[in-house]
Amino acid sequence: MARRPFVAGNWKMNMTQGEAATLLGELIPKLQAIRDVDVAVCPPFTAIGSTRERLHGTPVMLGAQNLHVAEKDGKLFHAGAYTGEISARMLADAGVSWVILGHSERRQFFGETDASINRKARACYEVGLKPIICVGETLADREAGNTAKVIEAQIRGCLDGLPQDRMAESVIAYEPVWAIGTGKVATPEQVQEVHAQIRALLVTLFNDRVSQAVRIQYGGSVKAGNAKALFALPDVDGGLIGGAALLAEEFAEIIQGARMAK
Ligand code: PEP
Repeated sequence: MARRPFVAGNWKMNMTQGEAATLLGELIPKLQAIRDVDVAVCPPFTAIGSTRERLHGTPVMLGAQNLHVAEKDGKLFHAGAYTGEISARMLADAGVSWVILGHSERRQFFGETDASINRKARACYEVGLKPIICVGETLADREAGNTAKVIEAQIRGCLDGLPQDRMAESVIAYEPVWAIGTGKVATPEQVQEVHAQIRALLVTLFNDRVSQAVRIQYGGSVKAGNAKALFALPDVDGGLIGGAALLAEEFAEIIQGARMAK
């Protein structure tokens, strides 16, 4: 099955509204000619509204970097006394289509677990949002030979019991923690091995159709110079881009790489 590549930019805690306007002003004209690739940018909450306005009429989709899942009596609900938090319903209302869940920085600094990521994915589905579910091993995991074990546990925990049809539209991002923001990109062999493992797990957990439909992005120090080789790998369907997504020229070249790779 031909999967459409998907390149998403994770702006992390960067970009005031003014900075976002400058970046998008440079980026959008460069994307006019780009076809056959899905593109999204994921601003911080404060720049979501202004980014939405600037993306209006362009094919670039809007994403967010997190949401709060409020639960009562085992049921999800969408409003409540959670000062400082943003719900899935609020994001959908703000024009968001995608939500990054379980980024390693959120796992590391904010106590996110596979179980909380699973609940957040369910919250996405309730309001028509699609998750980008992040998994990845640490350097210690890799050096101890535990990569496959760690990835399997994360995939099983994050995807446990998710509905098949929603899963088929969801995205998984494989982001080795040691490659994020470090300039150390995983080798094509390392990337393909984990992506193939994830696709095989999707057959076990769901079925062949879901496994063939789910797009699996690679993330971790993707740059214009290495994007095409990574995106050409059989089980890689685009990328989740951090630092390089803050630079219009670089991000546009990465998207072009995704187009040329398939
Ligand atoms: C990320 O934050 O998801 C990421 C992949 O960052 P970078 O591209 O900067 O390594």
